[in-house]
Amino acid sequence: MISVKEAVEIVINNTDVLDPQLITINEAMGFSIAEDIISDIDMPPFNRSAMDGYALIAEDIENVPCDLEVVETISAGCAPEKLIRKGLASKIMTGAIVPEGADTVIMVEDTESIDNGARVRILKQTKKGKNIALKGEDVESGQVVLKKGQEVRPQEIGVLASVGAERFKVFRSPNVGIIATGDELVEINVKPGAGQIRNSNGYSLAAQARQIVNDVEILEVAADNQEKICSIIELGLKKDVLILSGGVSMGDYDFVGKVLKEMEVEVFFEKVSLRPGKPTLFAKKGRTHIFALPGNPVATFVTFELFVYPAIRKMMRFASLTKPVITAVLETDYIAKKKRTEYRPAYIKLCDGKFRVKPVNWHGSGDLLSITNANCLLIVPEEIQKMDANQDVNVMLLSALSANENI
Ligand code: AMP
Ligand code: MG
Repeated sequence: MISVKEAVEIVINNTDVLDPQLITINEAMGFSIAEDIISDIDMPPFNRSAMDGYALIAEDIENVPCDLEVVETISAGCAPEKLIRKGLASKIMTGAIVPEGADTVIMVEDTESIDNGARVRILKQTKKGKNIALKGEDVESGQVVLKKGQEVRPQEIGVLASVGAERFKVFRSPNVGIIATGDELVEINVKPGAGQIRNSNGYSLAAQARQIVNDVEILEVAADNQEKICSIIELGLKKDVLILSGGVSMGDYDFVGKVLKEMEVEVFFEKVSLRPGKPTLFAKKGRTHIFALPGNPVATFVTFELFVYPAIRKMMRFASLTKPVITAVLETDYIAKKKRTEYRPAYIKLCDGKFRVKPVNWHGSGDLLSITNANCLLIVPEEIQKMDANQDVNVMLLSALSANENI
Protein backbone atom coordinates (compact mmCIF):
# COMPACT_ATOMS: atom_id res chain seq x y z
CA MET A 1 0.00 0.00 0.00
CA ILE A 2 1.40 3.40 -0.87
CA SER A 3 1.90 6.15 1.67
CA VAL A 4 -0.07 9.39 1.71
CA LYS A 5 3.05 11.26 0.61
CA GLU A 6 3.54 8.94 -2.38
CA ALA A 7 -0.14 9.15 -3.27
CA VAL A 8 -0.13 12.96 -3.21
CA GLU A 9 2.99 12.96 -5.40
CA ILE A 10 1.37 10.59 -7.89
CA VAL A 11 -1.72 12.80 -8.03
CA ILE A 12 0.32 15.95 -8.55
CA ASN A 13 2.66 14.40 -11.13
CA ASN A 14 -0.24 13.07 -13.18
CA THR A 15 -2.50 16.07 -13.05
CA ASP A 16 -2.73 18.10 -16.25
CA VAL A 17 -2.54 21.86 -16.15
CA LEU A 18 -5.27 23.88 -17.85
CA ASP A 19 -5.00 26.59 -20.48
CA PRO A 20 -5.38 30.33 -19.96
CA GLN A 21 -8.66 32.12 -20.44
CA LEU A 22 -9.53 35.80 -20.63
CA ILE A 23 -11.41 37.07 -17.61
CA THR A 24 -12.60 40.37 -16.17
CA ILE A 25 -11.28 41.77 -12.90
CA ASN A 26 -14.56 41.11 -11.09
CA GLU A 27 -14.34 37.40 -11.88
CA ALA A 28 -10.65 36.96 -11.12
CA MET A 29 -10.63 36.23 -7.36
CA GLY A 30 -9.10 32.83 -6.63
CA PHE A 31 -7.44 32.29 -10.02
CA SER A 32 -3.75 32.41 -10.84
CA ILE A 33 -2.59 34.98 -13.36
CA ALA A 34 -1.47 33.63 -16.75
CA GLU A 35 0.54 36.66 -17.92
CA ASP A 36 2.87 39.20 -16.37
CA ILE A 37 0.90 42.33 -15.48
CA ILE A 38 2.72 45.53 -16.33
CA SER A 39 1.96 48.94 -14.90
CA ASP A 40 1.04 51.66 -17.40
CA ILE A 41 1.69 54.40 -14.84
CA ASP A 42 4.09 55.52 -12.15
CA MET A 43 2.81 54.98 -8.63
CA PRO A 44 2.37 57.43 -7.10
CA PRO A 45 1.73 59.19 -10.41
CA PHE A 46 2.94 62.51 -8.91
CA ASN A 47 4.68 63.72 -5.74
CA ARG A 48 1.82 63.12 -3.34
CA SER A 49 1.12 64.41 0.11
CA ALA A 50 0.75 61.60 2.64
CA MET A 51 -0.82 63.87 5.26
CA ASP A 52 -3.25 66.69 5.75
CA GLY A 53 -0.96 69.64 6.57
CA TYR A 54 1.20 72.30 4.97
CA ALA A 55 3.61 71.95 2.04
CA LEU A 56 6.74 74.02 2.70
CA ILE A 57 10.52 74.24 2.51
CA ALA A 58 12.22 72.33 5.35
CA GLU A 59 14.94 74.96 5.74
CA ASP A 60 12.26 77.53 6.65
CA ILE A 61 11.29 75.65 9.80
CA GLU A 62 14.67 74.95 11.35
CA ASN A 63 13.81 77.30 14.21
CA VAL A 64 10.35 76.85 15.59
CA PRO A 65 7.88 78.28 16.29
CA CYS A 66 7.87 80.25 13.07
CA ASP A 67 5.19 81.70 10.82
CA LEU A 68 4.73 81.21 7.07
CA GLU A 69 2.36 82.84 4.59
CA VAL A 70 -0.30 80.46 3.23
CA VAL A 71 -0.65 80.98 -0.54
CA GLU A 72 -3.39 78.48 -1.41
CA THR A 73 -5.24 75.33 -0.36
CA ILE A 74 -4.64 72.23 -2.49
CA SER A 75 -7.19 69.44 -2.30
CA ALA A 76 -6.83 65.89 -3.70
CA GLY A 77 -7.53 65.78 -7.44
CA CYS A 78 -6.66 69.51 -8.01
CA ALA A 79 -3.52 70.95 -9.56
CA PRO A 80 -1.53 73.42 -7.40
CA GLU A 81 -1.33 76.89 -8.88
CA LYS A 82 1.27 78.54 -6.69
CA LEU A 83 5.01 77.98 -6.42
CA ILE A 84 6.47 77.62 -2.91
CA ARG A 85 9.33 79.99 -2.24
CA LYS A 86 11.10 80.88 1.02
CA GLY A 87 8.61 81.97 3.69
CA LEU A 88 5.59 80.46 1.91
CA ALA A 89 3.44 77.37 2.49
CA SER A 90 0.34 75.83 0.89
CA LYS A 91 -2.32 74.11 2.89
CA ILE A 92 -2.52 70.59 1.46
CA MET A 93 -4.76 67.55 1.83
CA THR A 94 -3.77 63.88 1.83
CA GLY A 95 -3.48 62.58 -1.74
CA ALA A 96 -2.99 66.03 -3.30
CA ILE A 97 -0.11 67.05 -5.59
CA VAL A 98 2.79 68.63 -3.68
CA PRO A 99 3.38 72.10 -5.21
CA GLU A 100 6.61 72.89 -6.97
CA GLY A 101 9.27 74.34 -4.68
CA ALA A 102 8.02 72.52 -1.56
CA ASP A 103 10.18 69.68 -0.26
CA THR A 104 8.30 68.71 2.90
CA VAL A 105 4.77 68.39 4.28
CA ILE A 106 4.20 69.07 7.96
CA MET A 107 1.15 67.48 9.51
CA VAL A 108 -1.67 69.78 10.52
CA GLU A 109 -1.43 68.62 14.15
CA ASP A 110 2.02 70.29 14.38
CA THR A 111 0.72 73.67 13.22
CA GLU A 112 -1.67 76.42 14.21
CA SER A 113 -3.66 78.42 11.70
CA ILE A 114 -3.44 82.18 12.33
CA ASP A 115 -4.76 85.38 10.73
CA ASN A 116 -7.90 83.56 9.55
CA GLY A 117 -5.84 81.09 7.62
CA ALA A 118 -3.67 83.63 5.84
CA ARG A 119 -0.68 82.48 7.86
CA VAL A 120 0.37 79.30 9.65
CA ARG A 121 2.44 78.92 12.82
CA ILE A 122 4.73 75.89 12.64
CA LEU A 123 5.15 74.37 16.10
CA LYS A 124 7.53 71.49 15.41
CA GLN A 125 10.49 70.77 13.19
CA THR A 126 10.23 68.08 10.54
CA LYS A 127 12.83 66.31 8.45
CA LYS A 128 13.22 67.36 4.81
CA GLY A 129 11.12 65.15 2.53
CA LYS A 130 8.76 64.07 5.31
CA ASN A 131 5.19 63.09 4.36
CA ILE A 132 5.82 63.20 0.61
CA ALA A 133 5.44 60.01 -1.43
CA LEU A 134 7.62 60.59 -4.48
CA LYS A 135 6.42 59.98 -8.04
CA GLY A 136 7.23 56.40 -9.05
CA GLU A 137 8.60 55.39 -5.64
CA ASP A 138 6.24 52.38 -5.36
CA VAL A 139 6.05 51.35 -9.00
CA GLU A 140 7.55 52.72 -12.20
CA SER A 141 5.68 52.77 -15.46
CA GLY A 142 6.58 49.59 -17.42
CA GLN A 143 7.38 47.60 -14.26
CA VAL A 144 5.95 44.08 -13.78
CA VAL A 145 3.62 44.40 -10.80
CA LEU A 146 2.22 40.84 -10.76
CA LYS A 147 4.05 37.81 -12.10
CA LYS A 148 2.55 34.99 -14.13
CA GLY A 149 1.41 32.28 -11.69
CA GLN A 150 0.56 34.66 -8.88
CA GLU A 151 -2.64 33.95 -6.97
CA VAL A 152 -5.33 36.61 -7.16
CA ARG A 153 -6.44 37.69 -3.69
CA PRO A 154 -8.16 40.95 -2.75
CA GLN A 155 -4.80 42.75 -2.54
CA GLU A 156 -3.88 41.62 -6.09
CA ILE A 157 -7.30 42.84 -7.25
CA GLY A 158 -6.36 46.27 -5.89
CA VAL A 159 -3.08 46.25 -7.84
CA LEU A 160 -4.83 45.08 -11.03
CA ALA A 161 -7.36 47.89 -10.69
CA SER A 162 -4.65 50.49 -10.09
CA VAL A 163 -2.83 49.58 -13.31
CA GLY A 164 -6.07 49.55 -15.29
CA ALA A 165 -6.12 45.77 -15.92
CA GLU A 166 -9.82 45.32 -16.60
CA ARG A 167 -9.40 42.10 -18.58
CA PHE A 168 -6.44 39.76 -18.45
CA LYS A 169 -5.55 36.09 -18.69
CA VAL A 170 -5.80 33.62 -15.82
CA PHE A 171 -5.38 29.86 -15.86
CA ARG A 172 -8.76 28.18 -16.31
CA SER A 173 -10.31 26.40 -13.35
CA PRO A 174 -11.57 22.86 -13.83
CA ASN A 175 -15.23 21.94 -13.98
CA VAL A 176 -16.10 19.36 -11.39
CA GLY A 177 -18.74 16.62 -11.36
CA ILE A 178 -19.77 14.72 -8.24
CA ILE A 179 -21.37 11.29 -8.11
CA ALA A 180 -22.50 9.70 -4.85
CA THR A 181 -23.00 5.96 -4.99
CA GLY A 182 -25.01 3.68 -2.72
CA ASP A 183 -28.33 1.82 -2.73
CA GLU A 184 -29.02 3.22 0.71
CA LEU A 185 -28.87 6.88 -0.34
CA VAL A 186 -31.96 9.07 -0.44
CA GLU A 187 -32.28 12.72 -1.37
CA ILE A 188 -32.05 15.21 1.45
CA ASN A 189 -35.73 16.23 1.24
CA VAL A 190 -36.74 12.66 2.09
CA LYS A 191 -36.91 11.21 5.62
CA PRO A 192 -34.77 8.08 5.37
CA GLY A 193 -36.64 4.78 5.73
CA ALA A 194 -35.24 1.56 7.16
CA GLY A 195 -31.59 1.10 6.16
CA GLN A 196 -31.49 4.39 4.28
CA ILE A 197 -29.38 7.53 4.81
CA ARG A 198 -29.41 10.95 3.23
CA ASN A 199 -26.76 11.70 0.60
CA SER A 200 -24.68 14.13 2.61
CA ASN A 201 -21.40 13.49 0.74
CA GLY A 202 -22.72 14.89 -2.53
CA TYR A 203 -23.34 18.20 -0.82
CA SER A 204 -20.24 18.35 1.36
CA LEU A 205 -17.97 17.46 -1.57
CA ALA A 206 -19.64 20.12 -3.73
CA ALA A 207 -19.09 22.65 -0.96
CA GLN A 208 -15.41 21.70 -0.63
CA ALA A 209 -14.97 22.02 -4.40
CA ARG A 210 -16.82 25.35 -4.50
CA GLN A 211 -14.31 26.82 -2.09
CA ILE A 212 -11.81 26.76 -4.95
CA VAL A 213 -13.76 26.49 -8.24
CA ASN A 214 -17.07 27.84 -9.51
CA ASP A 215 -18.29 25.18 -11.91
CA VAL A 216 -19.39 22.28 -9.72
CA GLU A 217 -22.26 19.95 -10.59
CA ILE A 218 -23.78 17.26 -8.39
CA LEU A 219 -24.64 14.53 -10.90
CA GLU A 220 -27.17 11.78 -10.33
CA VAL A 221 -26.81 9.38 -7.40
CA ALA A 222 -25.75 5.95 -8.65
CA ALA A 223 -27.28 2.81 -7.18
CA ASP A 224 -24.90 -0.07 -6.42
CA ASN A 225 -25.44 -1.54 -9.84
CA GLN A 226 -22.71 -1.84 -12.44
CA GLU A 227 -24.71 -0.63 -15.45
CA LYS A 228 -26.08 2.34 -13.53
CA ILE A 229 -22.65 3.31 -12.17
CA CYS A 230 -21.17 2.95 -15.66
CA SER A 231 -23.78 5.15 -17.35
CA ILE A 232 -23.46 7.92 -14.73
CA ILE A 233 -19.65 7.80 -14.91
CA GLU A 234 -19.99 8.22 -18.71
CA LEU A 235 -21.74 11.52 -18.00
CA GLY A 236 -19.05 12.47 -15.50
CA LEU A 237 -16.28 11.91 -18.05
CA LYS A 238 -17.24 15.22 -19.66
CA LYS A 239 -15.74 16.98 -16.64
CA ASP A 240 -12.13 17.88 -15.89
CA VAL A 241 -12.52 16.43 -12.40
CA LEU A 242 -14.91 13.65 -11.48
CA ILE A 243 -15.34 12.82 -7.79
CA LEU A 244 -17.19 9.69 -6.71
CA SER A 245 -18.04 8.76 -3.16
CA GLY A 246 -18.68 5.25 -1.84
CA GLY A 247 -18.47 1.82 -3.41
CA VAL A 248 -14.67 1.58 -3.44
CA SER A 249 -14.04 -0.79 -0.54
CA MET A 250 -14.21 -4.57 -0.32
CA GLY A 251 -17.98 -5.11 0.00
CA ASP A 252 -19.97 -7.32 -2.36
CA TYR A 253 -21.63 -4.24 -3.82
CA ASP A 254 -18.59 -1.98 -4.08
CA PHE A 255 -18.48 -1.80 -7.87
CA VAL A 256 -16.86 1.57 -8.55
CA GLY A 257 -13.27 0.31 -8.95
CA LYS A 258 -14.39 -2.63 -11.08
CA VAL A 259 -16.53 -0.46 -13.36
CA LEU A 260 -13.78 2.11 -13.79
CA LYS A 261 -11.30 -0.59 -14.79
CA GLU A 262 -13.78 -2.02 -17.30
CA MET A 263 -14.11 1.45 -18.77
CA GLU A 264 -10.37 1.39 -19.41
CA VAL A 265 -9.43 4.28 -17.26
CA GLU A 266 -5.80 4.49 -16.18
CA VAL A 267 -5.75 3.66 -12.45
CA PHE A 268 -2.77 5.07 -10.55
CA PHE A 269 -3.65 3.75 -7.11
CA GLU A 270 -6.65 2.35 -5.29
CA LYS A 271 -5.48 2.06 -1.70
CA VAL A 272 -3.55 4.47 0.47
CA SER A 273 -2.02 3.82 3.86
CA LEU A 274 -4.31 6.38 5.45
CA ARG A 275 -6.85 6.55 8.24
CA PRO A 276 -9.58 7.54 7.57
CA GLY A 277 -9.60 6.96 3.83
CA LYS A 278 -7.78 3.75 2.91
CA PRO A 279 -9.91 2.84 -0.13
CA THR A 280 -9.12 5.89 -2.25
CA LEU A 281 -8.70 5.54 -6.00
CA PHE A 282 -7.10 7.95 -8.43
CA ALA A 283 -7.46 7.41 -12.14
CA LYS A 284 -7.53 9.28 -15.43
CA LYS A 285 -9.35 8.94 -18.70
CA GLY A 286 -8.69 11.49 -21.40
CA ARG A 287 -8.87 14.89 -19.78
CA THR A 288 -10.86 13.65 -16.79
CA HIS A 289 -9.13 13.23 -13.43
CA ILE A 290 -11.12 10.69 -11.44
CA PHE A 291 -11.14 10.47 -7.66
CA ALA A 292 -13.18 7.64 -6.16
CA LEU A 293 -13.31 8.36 -2.44
CA PRO A 294 -14.57 6.19 0.41
CA GLY A 295 -18.20 6.76 1.40
CA ASN A 296 -17.75 7.26 5.12
CA PRO A 297 -18.36 11.01 5.43
CA VAL A 298 -15.23 11.92 7.42
CA ALA A 299 -13.09 9.82 5.07
CA THR A 300 -14.71 11.54 2.09
CA PHE A 301 -14.00 14.92 3.62
CA VAL A 302 -10.37 14.15 4.49
CA THR A 303 -9.50 12.50 1.17
CA PHE A 304 -10.83 15.50 -0.76
CA GLU A 305 -8.50 17.78 1.20
CA LEU A 306 -5.50 15.47 0.79
CA PHE A 307 -5.83 14.49 -2.88
CA VAL A 308 -8.47 16.45 -4.81
CA TYR A 309 -7.50 19.86 -3.45
CA PRO A 310 -3.86 19.75 -4.65
CA ALA A 311 -4.93 18.36 -8.03
CA ILE A 312 -7.29 21.28 -8.61
CA ARG A 313 -4.60 23.72 -7.46
CA LYS A 314 -2.14 22.16 -9.93
CA MET A 315 -4.66 22.41 -12.78
CA MET A 316 -5.04 26.10 -11.99
CA ARG A 317 -1.23 26.39 -11.84
CA PHE A 318 -0.84 27.65 -8.35
CA ALA A 319 2.67 27.60 -6.89
CA SER A 320 1.63 26.04 -3.58
CA LEU A 321 -0.58 22.98 -3.96
CA THR A 322 -1.30 21.29 -0.64
CA LYS A 323 -2.90 22.72 2.47
CA PRO A 324 -0.29 24.19 4.82
CA VAL A 325 1.25 21.95 7.49
CA ILE A 326 2.50 23.63 10.67
CA THR A 327 3.92 22.51 14.00
CA ALA A 328 1.75 22.73 17.09
CA VAL A 329 1.84 21.55 20.69
CA LEU A 330 -0.37 18.54 21.42
CA GLU A 331 -2.79 19.18 24.30
CA THR A 332 -3.53 15.59 25.34
CA ASP A 333 -1.89 12.16 25.12
CA TYR A 334 -2.88 10.39 21.94
CA ILE A 335 -2.85 6.64 21.33
CA ALA A 336 -2.48 5.94 17.64
CA LYS A 337 -3.85 2.90 15.85
CA LYS A 338 -0.58 2.38 13.92
CA LYS A 339 -0.04 0.72 10.53
CA ARG A 340 -1.57 3.63 8.61
CA THR A 341 -0.88 7.36 8.80
CA GLU A 342 -3.73 9.10 10.52
CA TYR A 343 -5.12 12.47 9.48
CA ARG A 344 -7.21 12.92 12.58
CA PRO A 345 -9.81 15.74 12.70
CA ALA A 346 -8.66 18.14 15.40
CA TYR A 347 -9.04 21.64 16.76
CA ILE A 348 -6.16 24.10 16.77
CA LYS A 349 -6.03 27.39 18.59
CA LEU A 350 -3.47 30.03 19.37
CA CYS A 351 -2.64 30.24 23.12
CA ASP A 352 -0.05 32.72 24.38
CA GLY A 353 1.65 32.85 21.01
CA LYS A 354 1.76 29.05 20.50
CA PHE A 355 -0.47 26.82 18.43
CA ARG A 356 -2.08 24.12 20.58
CA VAL A 357 -4.00 21.25 19.04
CA LYS A 358 -6.30 18.53 20.31
CA PRO A 359 -8.19 15.82 18.45
CA VAL A 360 -11.97 16.30 18.43
CA ASN A 361 -14.11 13.65 20.06
CA TRP A 362 -15.42 11.25 17.48
CA HIS A 363 -16.88 7.80 17.04
CA GLY A 364 -15.04 7.02 13.82
CA SER A 365 -15.10 7.96 10.18
CA GLY A 366 -18.90 7.89 9.93
CA ASP A 367 -19.23 10.57 12.62
CA LEU A 368 -19.94 13.56 10.42
CA LEU A 369 -20.95 15.86 13.26
CA SER A 370 -17.54 15.49 14.93
CA ILE A 371 -15.80 17.34 12.12
CA THR A 372 -17.93 20.42 12.66
CA ASN A 373 -15.67 20.87 15.71
CA ALA A 374 -12.50 20.46 13.64
CA ASN A 375 -10.45 23.12 11.89
CA CYS A 376 -7.38 21.02 11.09
CA LEU A 377 -6.07 17.49 10.75
CA LEU A 378 -3.58 16.14 13.28
CA ILE A 379 -1.00 14.08 11.38
CA VAL A 380 0.03 10.87 13.14
CA PRO A 381 2.76 9.04 11.17
CA GLU A 382 2.16 5.31 10.72
CA GLU A 383 5.12 4.19 12.83
CA ILE A 384 3.98 6.22 15.85
CA GLN A 385 2.20 4.34 18.66
CA LYS A 386 1.67 7.06 21.16
CA MET A 387 2.07 10.79 21.29
CA ASP A 388 2.39 12.64 24.58
CA ALA A 389 0.75 15.81 25.79
CA ASN A 390 2.99 18.85 25.20
CA GLN A 391 5.03 17.27 22.41
CA ASP A 392 5.33 18.97 19.02
CA VAL A 393 3.14 17.51 16.28
CA ASN A 394 2.38 18.29 12.65
CA VAL A 395 -1.02 19.68 11.75
CA MET A 396 -2.59 20.32 8.36
CA LEU A 397 -4.64 23.49 8.42
CA LEU A 398 -7.95 23.28 6.63
CA SER A 399 -8.83 26.91 6.19
CA ALA A 400 -7.39 28.31 2.98
CA LEU A 401 -4.31 30.16 4.16
CA SER A 402 -3.12 31.29 0.76
CA ALA A 403 0.20 32.95 0.17
CA ASN A 404 2.16 33.83 -2.89
CA GLU A 405 5.41 31.93 -2.73
CA ASN A 406 7.54 34.52 -4.44
CA ILE A 407 7.02 37.11 -1.71
P1 AMP B 1 -19.04 2.68 1.18
O1 AMP B 1 -17.76 3.41 0.97
O2 AMP B 1 -19.93 2.68 -0.01
O3 AMP B 1 -18.77 1.30 1.70
O4 AMP B 1 -19.80 3.44 2.32
C1 AMP B 1 -19.27 3.53 3.62
C2 AMP B 1 -20.26 4.21 4.56
O5 AMP B 1 -20.50 5.53 4.11
C3 AMP B 1 -21.62 3.54 4.61
O6 AMP B 1 -22.09 3.58 5.93
C4 AMP B 1 -22.46 4.40 3.70
O7 AMP B 1 -23.83 4.34 4.01
C5 AMP B 1 -21.89 5.78 3.94
N1 AMP B 1 -22.08 6.61 2.76
C6 AMP B 1 -21.80 6.26 1.49
N2 AMP B 1 -22.12 7.23 0.63
C7 AMP B 1 -22.62 8.24 1.38
C8 AMP B 1 -23.14 9.53 1.06
N3 AMP B 1 -23.20 9.98 -0.19
N4 AMP B 1 -23.56 10.31 2.08
C9 AMP B 1 -23.49 9.86 3.34
N5 AMP B 1 -23.00 8.68 3.71
C10 AMP B 1 -22.59 7.84 2.73
MG1 MG C 1 -21.67 1.88 -0.63
